[in-house]
Amino acid sequence: MQVHQYDVIIVGAGGAGMRAAIESGQRARTAVLTKLYPTRSHTGAAQGGMCAALANVEEDNWEWHTFDTVKGGDYLVDQDAAEVMAKEAIDAVLDLEKMGLPFNRTPEGKIDQRRFGGHTRDHGKSPVRRSCYAADRTGHMILQTLYQNCVKHGVEFYNEFYVLDLAMTEVDGVRRPAGVVAYELATGEIHLFQAKSVVFATGGVGKVFKTTSNAHTLTGDGMAVAYNRGIPLEDMEFFQFHPTGLAGLGILLSEAARGEGAILRNSEGERFMERYAPTIKDLAPRDIVARSMANEVREGRGCGPNKDYVLLDLTHLEPAHIDAKLPDITEFARTYLGVEPYTEPVPVFPTAHYAMGGIPTNIGAEVLADNDNVIPGLFAAGEVACVSVHGSNRLGTNSLLDINVFGKRAGIAAAEYSKTADFVELPEAAENDTVALLEKMRTSDGTERIGAIRKDLQELMDANVQVFRTDETLREALDEIAKLRERYSNVGIQDRGKRFNLDLLEAVELNFLLELAEVISVAAIHRKESRGGHFREDFPDRDDEGFMHHTMTYLDPDSETDGIKGMRLETKPVIVTRYQPMERKY
Ligand SMILES: Cc1cc2nc3c(=O)[nH]c(=O)nc-3n(C[C@H](O)[C@H](O)[C@H](O)COP(=O)(O)OP(=O)(O)OC[C@H]3O[C@@H](n4cnc5c(N)ncnc54)[C@H](O)[C@@H]3O)c2cc1C
Repeated sequence: MQVHQYDVIIVGAGGAGMRAAIESGQRARTAVLTKLYPTRSHTGAAQGGMCAALANVEEDNWEWHTFDTVKGGDYLVDQDAAEVMAKEAIDAVLDLEKMGLPFNRTPEGKIDQRRFGGHTRDHGKSPVRRSCYAADRTGHMILQTLYQNCVKHGVEFYNEFYVLDLAMTEVDGVRRPAGVVAYELATGEIHLFQAKSVVFATGGVGKVFKTTSNAHTLTGDGMAVAYNRGIPLEDMEFFQFHPTGLAGLGILLSEAARGEGAILRNSEGERFMERYAPTIKDLAPRDIVARSMANEVREGRGCGPNKDYVLLDLTHLEPAHIDAKLPDITEFARTYLGVEPYTEPVPVFPTAHYAMGGIPTNIGAEVLADNDNVIPGLFAAGEVACVSVHGSNRLGTNSLLDINVFGKRAGIAAAEYSKTADFVELPEAAENDTVALLEKMRTSDGTERIGAIRKDLQELMDANVQVFRTDETLREALDEIAKLRERYSNVGIQDRGKRFNLDLLEAVELNFLLELAEVISVAAIHRKESRGGHFREDFPDRDDEGFMHHTMTYLDPDSETDGIKGMRLETKPVIVTRYQPMERKY
């Protein structure tokens, strides 16, 4: 086994991890561990844009952006964090511009901006142009730009290294990270990385669902690893379903399409969003649009032979405009559905998209041990984290912003911390749990197959924990997950080799998915109200008296919650600075 030592270890090379690395790499000895090659991270799939109140094309300011973020998140947003994000957004975009990112430009040469759902002028009066973009490949441009700048600053990357455990040691009664345990894909070797600071930036967990816009690798590793070491997870019941996935496939068509003027229609040709959000219509926040679409289908106004989708109509837009602003996504419609968006409306239906919940942090990107204490030396940023700027529903283009603002903060904080702290001693045989798990899996004669269990899990989550939820569907999900975990204990893999054993790692990832599906379902059972992305048909209203708080889920051997042994739920107050909860109308 190889042992390495760095001041700062960053786990994940998406937007959040690399933005952190650029800062940390200039201040302290930093390594980035990533299971994918950096430029294959999901940030590169992001399409529509990154918002900041630059006011380049019309009047705007960070206070309106803060308000929209809070209201968009159905008032579960921590408002101190939203203020930080909206204020620092402007520098975050300018930083990227200086690094060389090729944004679309106005005729005068300023960074161009376009509309996105829930972003408004003057507290909801009308949509505002706030999203900076590079056609519909903004994430690709961000990822490439950040990678080039990491290379420029000499950041060290360990590519195709899977972090499977976090080593924690108690020092004077306080638990601190000592390092991480990683598995090298190419050799099957285990590596121990000792570090003063550890930053988690491992992205989301969209693969718990079948219909999803997320890449295959988004299996919630960082969340599960932290959870298994006693770190709570916050607000896991809140998952965003993006309105416009290609019907039947889930592949994303960016909200930028509606930002550029596309319209949703039902089988009667009606622009149905006029009924659900009379002021901003198709540009209402995603939770509202996704529910409205699902409702149209339920009430029999769906399209197609099975009446199970609605249509995204771009046919009134000029083909030249479509080609300039939305080239990739219109090509997706042609390639995957054989539909020509110039002349035909595109079949769409909600797709699982974004985890609002994750590892709890404060605005300094420090990970919380509980409501009152941080874990010194441990940081998290990006989709794996919950700071919480998105509350119960994230606004479009606020995530590329989040990863840049809080990625930068995490990188600076981790490096500064490493200057003040000593290395913490690694626990004895810190790698043992990981080695034992992998060996058991690699040599098991189990008859269950990973693919079959994963498919059953994803179909279950689509059927029971999606846009509409009830106590019954959620409890059924829990019962079935328990059975899947039982089956998982008898899983056997086909590849027994050491080199490039993806079979083995998929088995480990599936375990993460099963654990997190359970956390999501339990948190959803407990939230007996409807707010943002979490809609309970048995409790259709928001209940501020009962539920204006965050959910904190802990792994706790002595507790039992809803028949799940070892899980404890607590609450955490929402930070309110400016905006008291109001009725959420658009
Ligand atoms: C199709 C699509 C389009 C989107 N469009 C937009 C948009 O236009 N605007 C917007 O604001 N948001 C958008 N989003 C959301 C946004 O892109 C993501 O939330 C954000 O990019 C996440 O960045 P991240 O750095 O947290 O994670 P990622 O970019 O997902 O990176 C995760 C990193 O963690 C590493 N990793 C994971 N597990 C491990 C492990 N066990 N060990 C080591 N490394 C690990 C991976 O290798 C990867 O490098 C979109 C998302 C999707 C899926």
